[in-house]
Amino acid sequence: MRSRGLLWIAIAFLVGDILVGGCRGVSPARQTFDGQKAYQHVIAQCDLGPRPTGSAAGWATGDYIIAELSKLGWAVTSQEFTYKGVKGRNVVGRRGSGPIVILGAHYDTRPYADYDPVDKNQPILGANDGASGVAVLLELARSLDADKIQNEVWLLFFDAEDRGKLDGWPFSVGAEFFARDLEEHPDYVIIVDMVGDVDQNIFFERNSDPALQDQIWTIAADLGYREYFIPEYKWSIIDDHLPFAQRGLKAVDIIDFDYPHWHTTQDTPDKVSPESLQRVGRVLEELLEGER
Ligand SMILES: [Zn+2]
Repeated sequence: MRSRGLLWIAIAFLVGDILVGGCRGVSPARQTFDGQKAYQHVIAQCDLGPRPTGSAAGWATGDYIIAELSKLGWAVTSQEFTYKGVKGRNVVGRRGSGPIVILGAHYDTRPYADYDPVDKNQPILGANDGASGVAVLLELARSLDADKIQNEVWLLFFDAEDRGKLDGWPFSVGAEFFARDLEEHPDYVIIVDMVGDVDQNIFFERNSDPALQDQIWTIAADLGYREYFIPEYKWSIIDDHLPFAQRGLKAVDIIDFDYPHWHTTQDTPDKVSPESLQRVGRVLEELLEGER
């Protein structure tokens, strides 16, 4: 019985190897994205309270991101800007060499819950709308294997995305400042926003680059996430990818817009799952580390 048990273990390992190795260059990473670790970044941000642009908690979120990136050895810079008298700050972490690629997320949260059925004047906590994208990027900062990356990776944390249509503000103020001043020509820009919903449904987005979008959703399918990354068009979204797309750059928005708590006071950490963060993180990890 003992030797048969060992045989089964050996076969299980062998099958596992074939399954992992057999998928189009999907190779096991030395450091693998950990959804639980990402979720801790959601908690840490929400512990700071609502984080609108120009608030003390917003600035503290930028400080948290800078501290995390620095701890992990990323080269960090920031871009401060003022819009309608409010001070904002974009944060960038850079690592690696080769053609530049940008992964971005906004870290500010909406100052008013304008879709809340009860209280539209409260600020939102933004566990999904804000914190989830940041969490994925910060866990990627830990898990990306430097020796597998063939790009100069920029992790971009935008301020002032989510005050759009409030107080005369547009969306994506921080991303607009960054795109306007950008002198380099990155290969592509991928935005992750609202990616942590427990009930995850990420559809194609109409303002995104179709070829890059297809490449990302194919990786997701290869990883077994076909049910969560649905290769069908559904939404057309105004988000931080637009300032880049409008300047002729390849840009994709990975966003799960089927989120019932969007812009309400109910956008809290219990609506976000580590497994959802894990799937998005693994796809991006594979895009950057996989053999192409
Ligand atoms: Zn929002």
